[in-house]
Amino acid sequence: MNDTKQSERRRAFHREGDAFCWDGVDVLEYKEAGSAPFKSVTRSVLFEEPELGFQWRYFEVGAGGYTTLERHEHVHAVMIVRGRGTALIGTGIHPFAEFDLFRVPPMTWHQFRASDEGAMGFLCLVPSERDRPQLPTQDELAELKRNPDVAAFLNRR
Ligand code: MN
Repeated sequence: MNDTKQSERRRAFHREGDAFCWDGVDVLEYKEAGSAPFKSVTRSVLFEEPELGFQWRYFEVGAGGYTTLERHEHVHAVMIVRGRGTALIGTGIHPFAEFDLFRVPPMTWHQFRASDEGAMGFLCLVPSERDRPQLPTQDELAELKRNPDVAAFLNRR
């Protein structure tokens, strides 16, 4: 076995400043800048496993940051691994802490927000073959915001 393969057997965890990192795993832009609204999010692809049919990612959200409000046909399996925050899943608003689990069902609006106190990170498993996220139209956003709790969640910036 060559060195490259051996080094891929174990990719050790470390911190770079405050950020969670793994040896040999690049910390990437969450999404292309300007492609969708989000704040202070990075993406690391931990496992890309077409044979197993999944991609396993780690997302890190800075204090006060948030992921894109979106929906899609594929399911997310999420585990919070650092920090605290609040998630919108459908019209449900869920405070969360380390090691809480979320399942995001198909075609369900979702957004994860970090608390203002510190960074938040979560693991997210998705199928290798998956549809692209959809962003809400103005009408869909207005419909979501008819629920006052959802409006309060989405209006925090
Ligand atoms: Mn999503």
